[in-house]
Amino acid sequence: MRLLELRAVAETSEVGSKRPAERFDRSPIDNVASTGSYPEQVQQLPDLGHMRTANLFTMGIVLFAFIYEAITYNAIFLGRILPAAGRTVLAFPLGLLFNATWFMALWSYFQAHLSDPGRVPEQWRDFVRTVGEALPVTPAKAEWQPGQATFCKKCMSPRPERAHHCLVCGLCVLRMDHHCPWINNCVGFGNHKFFLLLGIYTSAACCLAFLSALPDLVVCVIAILDRQNGAVCHEEVLGFGHVIAFFVFGALASTVGGLIVHMLTVHIPLACRNSTSIEDCYENMTNPFDQGSAWGNVSQIFGAYGPDWFFPVRPARPLCDGIAFASGDEERLSLTASREREPTTEVLSFEDTETKQIWRTRYQVKSHGVAAVRGGEPGLPTLRDFLACGVGGQRHNPLNVCEYKPS
Ligand SMILES: [Zn+2]
Ligand SMILES: [Zn+2]
Repeated sequence: MRLLELRAVAETSEVGSKRPAERFDRSPIDNVASTGSYPEQVQQLPDLGHMRTANLFTMGIVLFAFIYEAITYNAIFLGRILPAAGRTVLAFPLGLLFNATWFMALWSYFQAHLSDPGRVPEQWRDFVRTVGEALPVTPAKAEWQPGQATFCKKCMSPRPERAHHCLVCGLCVLRMDHHCPWINNCVGFGNHKFFLLLGIYTSAACCLAFLSALPDLVVCVIAILDRQNGAVCHEEVLGFGHVIAFFVFGALASTVGGLIVHMLTVHIPLACRNSTSIEDCYENMTNPFDQGSAWGNVSQIFGAYGPDWFFPVRPARPLCDGIAFASGDEERLSLTASREREPTTEVLSFEDTETKQIWRTRYQVKSHGVAAVRGGEPGLPTLRDFLACGVGGQRHNPLNVCEYKPS
């Protein structure tokens, strides 16, 4: 699983695919240069329909494992083996624990799959159109770029900090972590909580199922190895087919549980550092989004602490909007827990003047007077500079208007 996820992360390097560019009949740069705005095709939100139907094979494997484990644990272990072994008293508490954990895992799975992972919201596009050339835009680099809007060469539009383009989904995802083929969706700002809960509840269900059934799995293994005795166990309650099915259940639970626990040993420490799989290799500075404690960092994903932490629902009190992230060395942006907000990815309204000011401050939007003076004060290039000099250049000389090399 980890290998597949790492491969998907590598595919976010925005190199090698021409699919998005083929969507446009003419260069968006030409449109921006002549009209000062983005072409209508670029302004439209991408359709997520194609990614819902792709990669159904991996989803089929996951759903089969979910259903198989539930049926065999309930029907064979709880329904037949425990009564035959004289441990019927354990059936109810084990059934309650397993099925509750299993349900939470399945709920988390569908939430992780079906949720918008964090498409760049229309409010950001409005913001970019409104501030225009006053918005400094910089090339995307494989390093921390706090407070900088970067230009996506696939979407041909500026995107917020920590957003990355996923070639599988064909769109930019806010605070993208990686593309997961097992949930057939990106893991980003909109569903990172669901992904982590999926791992936690799935590993808990697998561990509970495997450990509670381990003594009887040993009996079944002995029965399989000793077919000459009739291939039965527990006073001939189980036929050989059920014994095999129970053995497969144990093998599946231990394998999946082991893989998920290993995955959590990677992703939980990342969450505790407020980093993503993509950002984990950045070395140009210390993590600028580290809130100073594991609790504070996890709260950036789960929202302010509350009962909703344990359920795969959107954070009831989100601490950031996916556009402007609080840096560790500054006071949190005014998206504090004291402000009750709608539990949605797009928690901010662009009409909110406070939000506008936060974004303007965070992204160093220049006033008209400052924007007109280039060369007198070093600073980030504006969107017009960026587009006029070609997209995708890597070098930036703040004393020269045309600092970007066409690629
Ligand atoms: Zn993009
Ligand atoms: Zn993706």
